[in-house]
Amino acid sequence: MKIAVLSGKGGTGKTTVATNMAFNFKGAVLVDADVEEPNSHIFIKPRVTGEKSVYKNFPLVDMDRCNLCGDCGRFCKYNAILPAKNKVLVFKEICHDCGGCEIVCKRNAISYEKREIGKIHSGKGLGDIEFIYGDLNVGEVSGVKIISELREMVSDNEVVIIDSPPGPSCATVEAVEGVDYAVVVSEPTPFGVSDMKMVVEMLENMKIPFGVVVNKAGLGNDEIYDYCSGKNIEILENIPFSEEIAKLYAVGEMMCLENSKYSHYFENIIGKISKTVK
Ligand code: SF4
Ligand code: SF4
Repeated sequence: MKIAVLSGKGGTGKTTVATNMAFNFKGAVLVDADVEEPNSHIFIKPRVTGEKSVYKNFPLVDMDRCNLCGDCGRFCKYNAILPAKNKVLVFKEICHDCGGCEIVCKRNAISYEKREIGKIHSGKGLGDIEFIYGDLNVGEVSGVKIISELREMVSDNEVVIIDSPPGPSCATVEAVEGVDYAVVVSEPTPFGVSDMKMVVEMLENMKIPFGVVVNKAGLGNDEIYDYCSGKNIEILENIPFSEEIAKLYAVGEMMCLENSKYSHYFENIIGKISKTVK
């Protein structure tokens, strides 16, 4: 079973929910796919035992073969390769490594070279949680390749909890593709609900079953409850706004590890998901 935890924007408590769910779901593997800003490791505190680089290809043009016909530039919808007057310009940071320019080049002038875009770390964290996280290098535009490799590292037989990137981006789509269930974490404020709606629309289009966890319940207003009730979306749990939880988060401690009275929120979420996903 694969469960994605996502949110309409950063800072809603997505990582708190993902890490504490993993802590309360015996045998679960936690994957931090929020590769632009991974922070699950701050709470999980893993003993990292494995590390590998993730590479992406970019085109190299042999100007002895190239006749500047322009086919590669016309093909590339990302404008990552641009035949100019005397040479072909390549913008490797925005190349999506689709391989298309090599195929359309009739002069066989294009080959590829690889470059590192980030790393994947693996190990075991607090509570003996199996943990894998990706880390996109500073300045890189897209972490989709890293997320794709993270997904390949877990088996279909495991319970996997994926801390997904926030918002409805390409990276989020890659992280949630094929999951059995998604947990949308939102604060009950007008901005929180507005951002959440875009993620809800994405999940509906992808036909992924999902429910909502209201974090910092008690703040804001009732808009989130009216919205969910109007769309028949299940509220999986209300985690109340609490000074103690905020303080634990600020110092990078997992709330369930510090105080077991919080475990029932996550056991409840897991119980409801388990009933939905057979
Ligand atoms: S398609 Fe090939 S020959 Fe044409 S401009 Fe690009 S690299 Fe040069
Ligand atoms: S590999 Fe794809 S994305 Fe990269 S330059 Fe070639 S056509 Fe563009």
